[in-house]
Amino acid sequence: MSDKGVKDELSTELLRWYDAHARALPWRALPNSGQPTDPYFVWMSEIMLQQTTVAAVKEYFRKFTALWPTVHDLATAQDADVMAAWAGLGYYARARNLLKCARVIVADHGGVFPKDRDTLQSLPGIGPYTSAAIAAIAFDAPETVVDGNVERVMARLRAIETPLPPAKPELVAAAQALTPTKRPGDYAQAVMDLGATICTPKSPACGICPWQSPCRARVMGIAPELPRKLPKVQKPTRLGTAYIARRSDGAFLLETRPDKGLLGGMLGWPCSDWSVDAPDPAPPLTANWIDHGLQVRHTFTHFHLKLTVLVADIPESAAPDRGHFIDKHAFQPSSLPTVMKKAIALATPWPLRD
Ligand code: SF4
Repeated sequence: MSDKGVKDELSTELLRWYDAHARALPWRALPNSGQPTDPYFVWMSEIMLQQTTVAAVKEYFRKFTALWPTVHDLATAQDADVMAAWAGLGYYARARNLLKCARVIVADHGGVFPKDRDTLQSLPGIGPYTSAAIAAIAFDAPETVVDGNVERVMARLRAIETPLPPAKPELVAAAQALTPTKRPGDYAQAVMDLGATICTPKSPACGICPWQSPCRARVMGIAPELPRKLPKVQKPTRLGTAYIARRSDGAFLLETRPDKGLLGGMLGWPCSDWSVDAPDPAPPLTANWIDHGLQVRHTFTHFHLKLTVLVADIPESAAPDRGHFIDKHAFQPSSLPTVMKKAIALATPWPLRD
C-alpha cells in the first residue's frame, strides 16, 4: 500500500474508534453531536491544560466559563478576580496572559478568534503547540498537535527508540506524516485520547487499541518501555521564609507578588528571596516573629522549596514596609497559590485561636 494509503487507513481506524470512545470533556463538542465547537472554550482549555492534567483543569474550566461565559466578559474582568479564580492551578503567567489575550482579541479582532496559526501565535500566551491545537480543534485546520500523549503514541507506533527530549523532532515528523486532511481536528483529539486512555505510560491496553496491528513497538514487545527518556537532572532545593502577620483586628498582611517571576501577580505572604544559599531575612515589618518550627515543602517545575513560616501578632498601629492588610472577613485562603495556602494551613490554628 502507498504511504498515503497507509496514512488514510490509520486515520480512518482511529477516527472510527474516536467516534465511539471520545472522552466527554466540558470544553469539547463530541463528534457527531451536532454541537458547534466554541473557539473560546478550546482556547481556554488549551491554556489551562499547559503543564496541567485534565482532571485538575475541569473544575477550573467550569468556574471560569461560569464567571466569564464569553471572551468579551473575560476581557472586562478585574485582574484581581481572574488571578484569585486561577489560584491553585499553578503557572500563574498563564492567567495574566489569558487576560491580556482576551483583551487583544476584543480590541484588535472584534472579539472573534483568528483562525490561522500565525495570527494565533502572535497573541499573548499562545505558542507553537497551543496555536496548532486551537487551529486544529476549533477550526479543523490540518495542523499537527503534539503533546506528551501524542509523543508516546508515536514512539510506540513507529518504535522510535531515541530517548526524549532529543527524540522530539523525530516524533513530530512521525505525527506530521500521519495528520490527515479530513477531520484533522477530531484526529488530533483522537490521538491525544488514545494516549490518555489506552496507550497509557505504564500499561498500554494494546488488546483494545485501534492501532494494534500497525504498532511496531507492540510487535517487538517493547511498548511499555517507550518513549525512552534521558535520566532526569536532579532539582535543586531552595530555602526561604514566609512572614504571616495578623493585626489585632484580625486583618492579615499580604503582598501582591511582582508581575515578572514566580507566582507573578498573585497574592501571597511577604517572603524573603528563595535561594539555594540561605537567603537574608526580609520581614515586612519589625515584630516579634515566632518560629514554631513550621516548614512548607513545595515542588515547582525547576526546584524544591523549603519555606520556613514565621508568625507574628501585631498592633493596629503597625506600619509595614510593604504589603497591604486584608480584613479578616475578606481574607480567602482559596485565592492564594498552593504554596501560600500550605503556609496558612500549617500556621492554623495559631491565627484563628482568638
Ligand atoms: Fe499503544 Fe499498544 Fe496501541 Fe501500540 S498497540 S499504540 S503500544 S496501545
